[in-house]
Amino acid sequence: MDKIEHIGIAVKDLEVSNKLFASLFGEKHYKEEEVVSEGVITSFFKTGPNKVELLQATKEDSPIAKFIEKKGEGIHHIAFAVTDINAEITRLKNEGFTVLNEPPKKGADNKLVAFLHPKTTNGVLIELCQEIE
Ligand code: ZN
Repeated sequence: MDKIEHIGIAVKDLEVSNKLFASLFGEKHYKEEEVVSEGVITSFFKTGPNKVELLQATKEDSPIAKFIEKKGEGIHHIAFAVTDINAEITRLKNEGFTVLNEPPKKGADNKLVAFLHPKTTNGVLIELCQEIE
């Protein structure tokens, strides 16, 4: 894995949280994008070389809605950039991790993404993402 690509934070109300994080970072988000298949709307912030993704559910059975129901708002996942997501999926499966998306799916911010089940990663939901050329 190359680096942390972004940290994903589950929020109840994107409009409220956009304001909160803009005042925290001193800068507005640079993009907002809905991922219909996932039932989420996302908002991206840059802090120097790092990115933060806010996620708000757009429907009741969205994974983000379920997460907030169980755990409340907060850190939802950590995303790592990879250069070859399919090779990385094969490697991690061989290491015993449970990969939730195979083949990888189209995520926000022009990425191919796959998640690892938090049961196999100490309770942390990990996203692998590869930039789509
Ligand atoms: Zn993400």
